[in-house]
Amino acid sequence: MKSLRSLLAAAAVGSVATVSGLGQINTVQTVAPGVYFHEGDPRRGHSNNGWVVFGDFVFVIDANYPSGAKIVMPQIKTTTDKPVKFVFNTHHHADHAYGNQLWADEGATLLSTTRALEEMKKVETGYFGGPPGRWEAAAAKRPDVAATHLKPPYVLFPDELIFDDGKERVELHWFGAGHTQGDGYAWLPREKILFTGDACVNGPHNNVDDGNITEWIKTLEIAKQLGAEKVCPGHGPMGGPEIIVDQQAYFIALRDRVKALVDAGKSAGEIKAAAAAIAAELKKIPNIARYVQPDLTRHVQRVYLELGGTVFPK
Ligand SMILES: [Zn+2]
Repeated sequence: MKSLRSLLAAAAVGSVATVSGLGQINTVQTVAPGVYFHEGDPRRGHSNNGWVVFGDFVFVIDANYPSGAKIVMPQIKTTTDKPVKFVFNTHHHADHAYGNQLWADEGATLLSTTRALEEMKKVETGYFGGPPGRWEAAAAKRPDVAATHLKPPYVLFPDELIFDDGKERVELHWFGAGHTQGDGYAWLPREKILFTGDACVNGPHNNVDDGNITEWIKTLEIAKQLGAEKVCPGHGPMGGPEIIVDQQAYFIALRDRVKALVDAGKSAGEIKAAAAAIAAELKKIPNIARYVQPDLTRHVQRVYLELGGTVFPK
């Protein structure tokens, strides 16, 4: 999100909903009757949210940061008077899980894949009895995080968990590693709507630091096979199945470029230096240009590590 923030700094005035590239920030979008999408504000680090209105309760996808949760909660109330009973963390990252306490205070049960909690245990060492971890670092920078505390998800599933009340059906899935080891998807088979978390984004929002791009390409292939007609990504505007296709194509193109350099015997320093040229090249491919961040070094580094390479020289 850092690179995007600087890109958007100039746009941070006026009606954000009409700024090109920002989609419909902070507005409720009806995906299908009883199914809603809410695009978070990237300038505040917010993730997207979704929610599904069941007969007796609301099921929410992602907790957002606390400041994001505070925006989404009243938005949900404009669509239904039913209580939020479940909040699904698509993965363990701050912008998808740090708002958990606020939802729990409203009576919600917190869900994630088993692997997402395992990932959280590795980085949220402060909560789990070790030295300060990511939460403490975030709290030093963000008043909304400092004003609350970490509440990990506690209803966990390895591969699949289904909510079905005879009217609405939400299937939670783990399809494989990608953005993190624990990426969860929420699939609505009746409406053919897929909520992807950050396993799929729409725009220059890919954070690959906890990811595995090689596995990610394979996992997106599984997600693609669901046949979603509407895709609600973790960041950026919602769209159709082309979002998954383009996200996957970006990673394939990125990996191919880095692999070509490795196969040509280039050094770590040379491959690092090639990041700008790779970015320029990928920018020319129409369906993946929107995924190319101004500085592609971290993406190139991640692929290089996966291909057996070393950490880039400073
Ligand atoms: Zn994430």
